[in-house]
Amino acid sequence: AADDDYRARVEAADLPDAVRKAALAEVDKLERTSEQSPEGGWIRTWLDTVLELPWNERTEDVYDIAAARAVLDADHAGLDDVKERIIEYLAVRKRRAESGLGPVGGRRSGAVLALAGPPGVGKTSLGESVAKAMGRKFVRVALGGIRDEAEIRGHRRTYVGALPGRIVRAIKEAGSMNPVVLLDEIDKVGADYRGDPTAALLEVLDPEQNHTFRDHYLEVELDLSDVVFLATANALETIPGPLLDRMELVTLDGYTEHEKVTIARDHLLPRELERAGLASGDVVLTDDAFSRIAAEYTREAGVRDANRTIAKVLRKIATKVALGSVSLPLTVSAEDLETYLGRPRHVPESSLPTATQRTSLPGVATGLAVTGAGGDVLYIEASLADPESGASGLQLTGQLGDVMKESVQIALSYLRSHGAELELPVGDLRERGIHVHVPAGAVPKDGPSAGITMTTALASLLSGRVVRADVAMTGEVSLTGRVLPIGGVKQKLLAAHRAGMKTVIIPQRNEPDLDDVPAEVLSQLEVHAVANVREVLELAL
Ligand code: ATP
Ligand code: MG
Repeated sequence: AADDDYRARVEAADLPDAVRKAALAEVDKLERTSEQSPEGGWIRTWLDTVLELPWNERTEDVYDIAAARAVLDADHAGLDDVKERIIEYLAVRKRRAESGLGPVGGRRSGAVLALAGPPGVGKTSLGESVAKAMGRKFVRVALGGIRDEAEIRGHRRTYVGALPGRIVRAIKEAGSMNPVVLLDEIDKVGADYRGDPTAALLEVLDPEQNHTFRDHYLEVELDLSDVVFLATANALETIPGPLLDRMELVTLDGYTEHEKVTIARDHLLPRELERAGLASGDVVLTDDAFSRIAAEYTREAGVRDANRTIAKVLRKIATKVALGSVSLPLTVSAEDLETYLGRPRHVPESSLPTATQRTSLPGVATGLAVTGAGGDVLYIEASLADPESGASGLQLTGQLGDVMKESVQIALSYLRSHGAELELPVGDLRERGIHVHVPAGAVPKDGPSAGITMTTALASLLSGRVVRADVAMTGEVSLTGRVLPIGGVKQKLLAAHRAGMKTVIIPQRNEPDLDDVPAEVLSQLEVHAVANVREVLELAL
């Protein structure tokens, strides 16, 4: 049929009955409108959209679990727990399909796997591998910064410039009704006066509702029950509760230096060689060179900056080759890196001079925190005002959230009531102003897990003894000095290891979390699991 013969096109297309009926009604309307009227244009655009959707297209699922594991292994090094979880998910789908229960993600069960973790750990690229492993089409829907419900569900057709929403566009892009759709950065969806995109997402992910998903623009129902939805997120705190409820979390916490070397050598370098127009084997980096990139040229939980750094080295080499100043093949050692990258930008936090300098005065203690970028070390500084200055009371700086402010109060109250047994001159607390600061000053911070670090910083200040530079700690503290459990142990230990800390103090009740921490990290850290803040002070001061 000719492009503008919509009646013939609708009749020839493979459409569900309800859709065909709606489309023919639009064709009737189109035939009644004048050629020039803008309405004719709108109807044609709508018909084009409907005709482009893959209403009855489906790809055949691959249910070969061993082959799926091979695909996951080929694309990503390490991540054994995560891969195992994905394989379990596929195995359950396979069982259900074989016993005729219909696909998981169909009406009965809607486990949406959510990959959560810091940037550059492979969440998005794992999503792509899952599609490959299942033999399905893959589409990524970037949700970051979406604040308008119409982005998800489309604009009503009466709206000038109306478009279908992201979900419909994703299905069109996939060209099948059963793709893997990755809802990327679901933690960065926000709500404002234009409506809450979360409500629309809830409907999309709800197996009870999503077989009759209605896009405002499309107006006809779209069956999403065969779509496999995956989600990714950096921070779980910003995901609305009802959405989080629908998802099954799989956490990726970041890599050790050793894991980064493997990833860089086996995955990043081959890919970047190709991008730089170099053949495999043209440029080889030694493992020490990869290690140095991970430790001194980048500071991250994932491997994105490492990837960029490798790309930069290869670009410089490609340029030198073009100028005739080096010839291939070429091996790059750890020392050679400086000729391509200049001096390293990061030194391990604990190595001289940073940590020792920072903790060289009483009143400074090293904590561990989880930020959107993964685990990190954080220093807490406390100082007493000069008695002559007349300053009094408590001053807090560093963009501390309410919970963190309360941690300081708790630490002070604890020290006031236990000062005598701890042999601390707590009288100073009464007479002189105290200032607690948490650098970096401009980054907002919150949470209770700095409790023992606050207490240690203040105890160090009062006693005049400095805190050991290679000790980092995390734990909430109660008024009676009990150390309460916190989250993010693995990320925090990876960060302590990355920063070159030697001793880490964690709450006793977090001891089971150590099972998730790579042996390589545990073997190089002395981890103390404590129940009372008194033990912390003994270890750190
Ligand atoms: P963000 O939260 O910033 O979106 P992300 O977790 O989605 O980060 P990706 O973009 O998936 O990160 O990963 C960054 C790059 O690192 C990709 O090129 C990815 O293939 C690679 N990568 C990450 N982890 C691994 C791994 N274990 N093996 C091989 N490559 C990896
Ligand atoms: Mg991503």
